[in-house]
Amino acid sequence: MPSTSIEDFRGILSNARNILVVSGAGLSAASGIATFRGQGGRWRKYDASILATLAAWHENQSRVWQFFHYRREEVRSKRPNDGHYALARMCMPKWRRTVAPNATIVHVTQNIDGLCLEALDELSSASEEPPDGTIIEMHGNLFDVVCTAFDCDYRAKNMDYPICPALGGTEAIVAAGNVEPVVRRADLPHCPKCQQLLRPDVVWFGERPKQIQRILEAADSADLCLVVGTSSLVQPASKLPERVHANGGKVAVFNLEPNTNHSDEADFEFVGPCESEIARILGV
Ligand SMILES: [Zn+2]
Repeated sequence: MPSTSIEDFRGILSNARNILVVSGAGLSAASGIATFRGQGGRWRKYDASILATLAAWHENQSRVWQFFHYRREEVRSKRPNDGHYALARMCMPKWRRTVAPNATIVHVTQNIDGLCLEALDELSSASEEPPDGTIIEMHGNLFDVVCTAFDCDYRAKNMDYPICPALGGTEAIVAAGNVEPVVRRADLPHCPKCQQLLRPDVVWFGERPKQIQRILEAADSADLCLVVGTSSLVQPASKLPERVHANGGKVAVFNLEPNTNHSDEADFEFVGPCESEIARILGV
């Protein structure tokens, strides 16, 4: 059985050399972000997990763009919660040195809502000392776009609302009971450099995660792994705590509900809402 002792956990934390954080949808739940993973992950009449694939993109770019337009609109008004801020503080030397003075930190998030980085940017801009921890959005970010042309390297942050005029209002049309609009290819977002189609720069099911080499290196050097809000980890994120465990590192799981998936490798398990538990247990 995993330990629930905060005192014992803090002892491990204070001696940690390399900390790996792996976070997922549960971290953003208190910010009001829908997960679209697992059962019930539906948008309109479609299974959301099928829309986020290369096959769906080739079949119907209008529909896939409408789905990501919807998600961008959903997320743009949302704010980081206390869980995001606690983990962001761990990336700032000022706070981390109070609980883990000798540690480096790499935070790998499966979330594409950008809230982990937003929290860190906020703390960073209000601090004299820059962050020295790293946040990796392994599945990309809803507000990044990338050109689909193989010979073009255009990639950018795009906060436009709506991202293009033709996508604006598409959700309302369907919500009003009308037939799903078809946005012509020419009216979808296009690359300012080469005029080819842009796609959301998110990792679709079956695609290789961003910076996977760096993530695996972080896992192999970690002596402490914090698993936050991810009861149903998607591969290869699900393998990261296993790697840390196999190397003799400790694994601490933070989740709303007891997490049977990680029971084999979890040394600590803290059950409760991420937004309040993370800060309380880390002590930042
Ligand atoms: Zn281009």
